[in-house]
Amino acid sequence: MFRKKVIAGNWKMNKTATEAVTLAKDIIDEVGRETSVDIVLCPPFTALSAVAHVLEGQAVKLGGQNMHPAKNGAYTGEISAEMLRTLYATHVILGHSERRTYFCETDAFINQKVVTALAHELKPILCVGETLAEREAGATLAVVQRHVEGGLSGVKPEQITTVIIAYEPVWAIGTGEVATPEDAQEVCGAIRGRVLETFGADVAAAVRILYGGSVKSSNVASIMAKPDVDGALIGGASLDPDEFVGIVRFRLHPPELVS
Ligand code: PEP
Repeated sequence: MFRKKVIAGNWKMNKTATEAVTLAKDIIDEVGRETSVDIVLCPPFTALSAVAHVLEGQAVKLGGQNMHPAKNGAYTGEISAEMLRTLYATHVILGHSERRTYFCETDAFINQKVVTALAHELKPILCVGETLAEREAGATLAVVQRHVEGGLSGVKPEQITTVIIAYEPVWAIGTGEVATPEDAQEVCGAIRGRVLETFGADVAAAVRILYGGSVKSSNVASIMAKPDVDGALIGGASLDPDEFVGIVRFRLHPPELVS
């Protein structure tokens, strides 16, 4: 089945609103109307509104980096699905390893967010992935399956294809150490296999699974060439417009020409 590739940029806690506008403009000048790939920009909350204006009329989509599962209430510092929606966000990153590590987010809590996001017609980008210690202990697939099952618990089969799953080995995030295309394929393939067991073949064939972790324009093509990798979640390289645009145009860098 054809699955449109997704390239999502996670700007993390970088860029003031003014700087974010400049970055978004630099990106849309090059690929603003690109429709062969789904492009999602995820600025910090404080820049969502400003970037939403820049993206008006463009094909590029807007995403949040996190949200709280509650509708509203006494959750100081948090923002809701509805708040994201009213800023024209269509996507939201959930369960990023930095949230799991620094803010102690559990699979159960992340699952609540996934369910809430879907109820508000936000597409969750659910991040899963093992730490270096877990990989060295041979627990990669078990950890990733636990994150996938925990994150998707209670989600209806017809909603699963709205979820984008991002395999992000923690040891590859921001380290410059990228997983080999074979490692990325092994884990993304295993994730699709688990989706197949739980939700059936049609859902598994349609759900999009990304790789994230030190992706750059120089290594993206070989990873994207793998059959179960449907795109990439980009951290550091998404802050450099030339790099990000180079990643979006990954088809211009055939894998065999990548060193
Ligand atoms: C990320 O934080 O989601 C990520 C993939 O970061 P980087 O590309 O910098 O490794």
